[in-house]
Amino acid sequence: MAGSHPPPAGGPQLTRHEVERATALRTDQDRLAKAWADPATRVLIVQDGQVVARVGDGAAELVFVSPEHAPDGDRFLLGVDSADVVYFGVCGPLNTAEGVAQQAAAGPDGEVTIRRAGLREAGVLLSDRDAGLLTHAVALANWHAVAGHCSRCGAPTKPEMAGHSRRCTSDGSEHFPRCDPAVIMLVTDPDDRCLLARNVQWPKGRVSVLAGFVEAGESAEQAVAREVREETGVIVSSVSYASSQPWPMPHSLMLGFRAQAVTTEISVDAEEIEEAAWYSRDDLRAALVSGELVMPPSLSISRWLIETWYGTELPALGIG
Ligand SMILES: [Zn+2]
Repeated sequence: MAGSHPPPAGGPQLTRHEVERATALRTDQDRLAKAWADPATRVLIVQDGQVVARVGDGAAELVFVSPEHAPDGDRFLLGVDSADVVYFGVCGPLNTAEGVAQQAAAGPDGEVTIRRAGLREAGVLLSDRDAGLLTHAVALANWHAVAGHCSRCGAPTKPEMAGHSRRCTSDGSEHFPRCDPAVIMLVTDPDDRCLLARNVQWPKGRVSVLAGFVEAGESAEQAVAREVREETGVIVSSVSYASSQPWPMPHSLMLGFRAQAVTTEISVDAEEIEEAAWYSRDDLRAALVSGELVMPPSLSISRWLIETWYGTELPALGIG
């Protein structure tokens, strides 16, 4: 690895957080009831992966409601902040949150718009606190939306552990949020060039690092080597873990790796990958500045992986 290139500051965007998950509180019914009776408690309403946010010039903040204004959906504890404010999420319609935000915004407030947003739109605009809360809330809401029936017997399930698990009302089995592990890997060759590829579904010029789901009975490192070989014909060694990022769209965990290529000849599978090539840092800079290439959005761990190799933030041009 080229040690002369320091990685950009901070980790992937969706690993930012500030609110303690307060796992001990999940089984403390008295404290949970008190928190729900407290108008200072903040509730984030989630519907189809979206929440209501105030979006201004290059920044956004989540709109919360008091428990008394929360709809009657599946409820889950998100955590407690350093000022002892308790945060919950609730699955339900967003109208209440929109009403609350519009009331609060009454008056001259031309710069800020109140709108529905998901992680993709709001993720990088939010503060650390809000980015962490939204990631946590969307992941749980997505799971509750599909976990209403037992996968063993089909009977209804009910939330437990303050919305962090569900139990079957018939056979008593306990169910936890599903999370699909996926690997995403920055592959470099002996000249420290980086392998970037275009998915068949992407527009011309859009490239990223390779990625794929971990299969049953497979380690993450094995998945890295298999996916790189399947998609580009390149053989890798020295697979090492870099960082992970939750990606609840709808329920993945992206495991970021670096891998070194043993072979450099590329032969794309054409099923998932349309084209792939090796890029030096100078090649990449030139292709971005000329507009020939477009990088993944800054919310993604792929962008973070590429920037840790590149050594700094990528040129502002050519960012999708
Ligand atoms: Zn069951």
